[in-house]
Amino acid sequence: MLHDEGVSMQAKPFSIGVRIEHPQSVIDTAQFGSAAGSSLLGAAEYRLVHHAANGRGVYSFCMCPGGTVVAATSEEGQVVTNGMSQYSRAERNANSGIVVELRPGQDYPDEPLAGVAFQRHWEKQAFVAGGGDYRAPAQRVGDFLAGRASVSLGEVVPSYRPGVTPTDLSTCLPDFVVEALREALPHFDRKLKGYTMEDAVMTGVETRTSSPLRIPRGEAGQSVNTPGLYPAGEGAGYAGGFSPRRWMVSVWPKLWRVISRACRPPLCNIGCCKPALPHPGIRRCGWGVSVRPERLPPVHRNVVAHPHAPSAPPRQCFQAGG
Ligand SMILES: Cc1cc2nc3c(=O)[nH]c(=O)nc-3n(C[C@H](O)[C@H](O)[C@H](O)COP(=O)(O)OP(=O)(O)OC[C@H]3O[C@@H](n4cnc5c(N)ncnc54)[C@H](O)[C@@H]3O)c2cc1C
Repeated sequence: MLHDEGVSMQAKPFSIGVRIEHPQSVIDTAQFGSAAGSSLLGAAEYRLVHHAANGRGVYSFCMCPGGTVVAATSEEGQVVTNGMSQYSRAERNANSGIVVELRPGQDYPDEPLAGVAFQRHWEKQAFVAGGGDYRAPAQRVGDFLAGRASVSLGEVVPSYRPGVTPTDLSTCLPDFVVEALREALPHFDRKLKGYTMEDAVMTGVETRTSSPLRIPRGEAGQSVNTPGLYPAGEGAGYAGGFSPRRWMVSVWPKLWRVISRACRPPLCNIGCCKPALPHPGIRRCGWGVSVRPERLPPVHRNVVAHPHAPSAPPRQCFQAGG
């Protein structure tokens, strides 16, 4: 919608990959050794990075100790994974996104919505590979590394609901991503012993690591071509996860000043109204004022001369701060 309205946007890099699940006890032992299982230490976490020979960064994302893999699609006919831990971090498995970086202009066209189309394509592939009923496609790590489809799972019971379908994840990931993942996992095993255990489960696809586009901000955090629009939240494309909220907290006082100024009852410079009263042809809306010259008495129709009147066409809400 914003794109159709001409709001400035640009493609940005993001990442794609899978969720990987291990028994939490394997991660605890790799990290804590003989102290694994101590209630003082709790469930172990990890962060892993590898630079693959094909030039791609591979990294762990949103590692969830003692957590679950969560269905996170927002559209029909698509499958997307995410992960979360309860406060107790007491579920049987550790999970993490393992994702590979993507670049606009190289992996999809350098156009604002091309990354979204790219996401949709692979999420639809995952839906098909999962069996078309919102189960997610999954593969044992041993099978993935050996390049064969999984036909069953082993000791690691995946937590994804409504369930998973053992299959070949290479049908729902780009080749260069599969290649980078195959190279990275053994490297990760050197850092965390047991990471490539045969029965560890990979579930796909993890595509929503961050927004695939950015709505550039200019002066005072407003859109560069649409004053009064403050791109905020994850969709603005400046930061992923909960962190964009910090920006929203910092910009809110500024925004509030602008809104309260714009929503003040407009004053008439023709001298016919009492300043405290809104002009009869100018009404307040949530974000500014809208001007309806046809509802003004003829003598008042020179709305452009009004100090709060927008230069925008009638009926259109002018931008806050205008
Ligand atoms: C399972 C899971 C686990 C996560 N774990 C973490 C984590 O540990 N750490 C982290 O940093 N991030 C995590 N994230 C990501 C984080 O939740 C998001 O990045 C963050 O919530 C984005 O904030 P937002 O305000 O941009 O959007 P949202 O929090 O999605 O808020 C958007 C709001 O707009 C509403 N809305 C949407 N469309 C409309 C409409 N048309 N009309 C009216 N209202 C509408 C929605 O109902 C929603 O309330 C997780 C996400 C998921 C799904």
